[in-house]
Amino acid sequence: MRLTVLGRSPARPNPGEACAGYVVEGGNSRILVDVGPGVVAQLLRRNTPDELDAVVISHMHTDHCLDLITLRYSYPWIDVAKHRLTVIVPPGSMGQLSDLALGAGYANFFDKSFVFVEHDGRRPIEIGNLRLEPEETQHYVRTWGFRITANGTDEDPNRVLAYSADSGPCDALSRIADTADLFLCEAALRSLKEDDPEPHSRGHLLPSEAGEAARAAGVKRLLMTHIPVTDGTSWALTEARVAYDGDVEVAEPLRSYEV
Ligand SMILES: [Zn+2]
Ligand SMILES: [Zn+2]
Repeated sequence: MRLTVLGRSPARPNPGEACAGYVVEGGNSRILVDVGPGVVAQLLRRNTPDELDAVVISHMHTDHCLDLITLRYSYPWIDVAKHRLTVIVPPGSMGQLSDLALGAGYANFFDKSFVFVEHDGRRPIEIGNLRLEPEETQHYVRTWGFRITANGTDEDPNRVLAYSADSGPCDALSRIADTADLFLCEAALRSLKEDDPEPHSRGHLLPSEAGEAARAAGVKRLLMTHIPVTDGTSWALTEARVAYDGDVEVAEPLRSYEV
């Protein structure tokens, strides 16, 4: 499998960078996981939208889904229903998609280009040769992270890409990332002044907590994302390494990572 980072920004973007958006390729399948503001402009540097097999949205916060409108403008195949793009969304989010469509001025804005499918929050999602196991995280709205594997002649089905989505410290992270080869983990907090100090009511992680989650899950490699970088990234690496002595990096926009 291969992960390509299109955007690593938290909700308040890093200058010149997109919010959450990741291309995952494996077994001749290609998906886009999350599509926050700025992601489609980055996607178009490398892929046209018809080269995607599906889009998967972790949760309905705008920094993870707002560029669905931009994606639709890049995918204007009116009346070519057989080519509609599958967009997999969290359980219970269809009403919000109708509201989002109104942002473009039409209630049926998405209808001829996208097919929206709610996953059920439990069963694996199969897209071609990619398989995503959803796991609900701790966040301010219902959110699912994913444990991703691939099948195919050139794939080792035991390789695991784990994605935290947005999450505070919680047990779900250990299940998502259990012995993963690459753990793409959010680290959105610069300090606890930005969130509730109590871990159980937190919706995001400090880099030290991303490191702790990586250590607890026994992952082989930690890639921190959804991270503010206006002060550089060395502070975050230093904090994460206190808890986790494995390979740790900060996600770089437009860089690909082999899993
Ligand atoms: Zn969020
Ligand atoms: Zn977010």
